[in-house]
Amino acid sequence: MQQTDVIIIGAGAAGLMCAAQAAARGRTVLLLDHANKAGKKILMSGGGRCNFTNYHISFDRYLSHNPHFYKSALKRYTQWDFIALVEKHGIAYHEKKEGQLFCDNKASAILNMLLAECAANKVDLRLKTSVSAIKAISKSGSESGSNMRYQLKANGELWQCESLVIATGGPSIPTLGATGFGYEVAKQFNLPVYEPTAGLVPFVITGTQKALCEELSGTSLPVEVSCRSKIFSEDMLFTHRGLSGPAMLQISSYWQPGDYLSINLMPHMDVAQVLRQEQHLRPKLLLRNWLAEQSTQKFAENWLAPTQWHSHALAQLNGAAMDEIAHGLQQWQIKPAGTEGYRTAEVALGGVDTDTLSSKTMEVKEHPGLYFIGEVVDVTGHLGGFNFQWAWSSAVAAAESV
Ligand SMILES: Cc1cc2nc3c(=O)[nH]c(=O)nc-3n(C[C@H](O)[C@H](O)[C@H](O)COP(=O)(O)OP(=O)(O)OC[C@H]3O[C@@H](n4cnc5c(N)ncnc54)[C@H](O)[C@@H]3O)c2cc1C
Repeated sequence: MQQTDVIIIGAGAAGLMCAAQAAARGRTVLLLDHANKAGKKILMSGGGRCNFTNYHISFDRYLSHNPHFYKSALKRYTQWDFIALVEKHGIAYHEKKEGQLFCDNKASAILNMLLAECAANKVDLRLKTSVSAIKAISKSGSESGSNMRYQLKANGELWQCESLVIATGGPSIPTLGATGFGYEVAKQFNLPVYEPTAGLVPFVITGTQKALCEELSGTSLPVEVSCRSKIFSEDMLFTHRGLSGPAMLQISSYWQPGDYLSINLMPHMDVAQVLRQEQHLRPKLLLRNWLAEQSTQKFAENWLAPTQWHSHALAQLNGAAMDEIAHGLQQWQIKPAGTEGYRTAEVALGGVDTDTLSSKTMEVKEHPGLYFIGEVVDVTGHLGGFNFQWAWSSAVAAAESV
């Protein structure tokens, strides 16, 4: 039987951060992961450059069944704290857009920084380690005077610890070692879990609109997409399977099966009004050439091909036709057949019910010494560095308490 102050399961973003910070407080920390490498999602993130936080962290960029839960942790360990850590390690970074901070070079800089912090504070990191038989140690079962509260088996070795932190993330991208392990631990301790679903994920389109997506695959347009009273103005990408790009990933976290998306493909103009003006100015101009000027030739050709207006000049359009064309472009209604699911999702929505956790420490209220941090908790951020900031902030909240 071996003993340590803290055992953290999951050496991803949250687990590495929590381990380094708890060990810096003088706690002995054992950090376990079943994968052959720590922080695989960090390496994949941000297109290989890791969008590690955002200058504009705000509470309305998070989803949770309890919209107050995440405030305390995010306020106490902020984006500025993480930026200071990045700067301390001399990692070059830049703002891409709207406050999103990326490494100038590779995402491995962030992973190496966390590993260096763990090593400097003597965290015992063990990879390729499977965990089983987690149990709480009853008072009568603990050795007299011992603070040990949890016991588990790691690669067959028996361990006891005072604090057990579950940082195993969500089930998105199983090929990177993602599992639903954290939800199972929660269920073992009778903690409610909001059914996880894929978030920040591309849509699959079937039926007649699939052909359009296939034809336009690779084309990106700035759009405004809305669903369930949420609106995002970002780029949309047509793919062979359907629709992707930041606008679609963002709205996917709000979309429910059966919902329509309403997409404004020309968000920067009032199409009906502009068409009327252009009709006076350039009556002989073909509608498809006008549309190509506003977007791309390929889009204009494919969008108008199935319509009666493909070969019309602007002068040939009456008021009703212009209104119909504008409506089609500015309120395109599309009903996705589904999403690409966990195979490509950046996050899992849902997770451990936050009502069972302390918002200050991430400790389970009914089970002192047991903590859940990061994506396994029912807190999900928008695209743009918000999910990593939640991982860092929730990790530090727990690290100060374990
Ligand atoms: C492709 C991709 C790109 C992304 N890009 C960004 C981005 O640029 N910015 C951003 O903010 N967010 C991004 N995200 C989301 C971000 O990666 C996650 O929100 C974040 O990694 C969650 O941190 P975590 O520590 O909770 O979980 P993870 O980082 O997923 O870590 C969980 C760890 O637990 C381990 N584990 C799982 N099950 C077990 C088990 N049974 N036993 C032992 N260990 C286990 C895993 O191997 C893993 O190492 C991206 C996600 C993906 C998939």
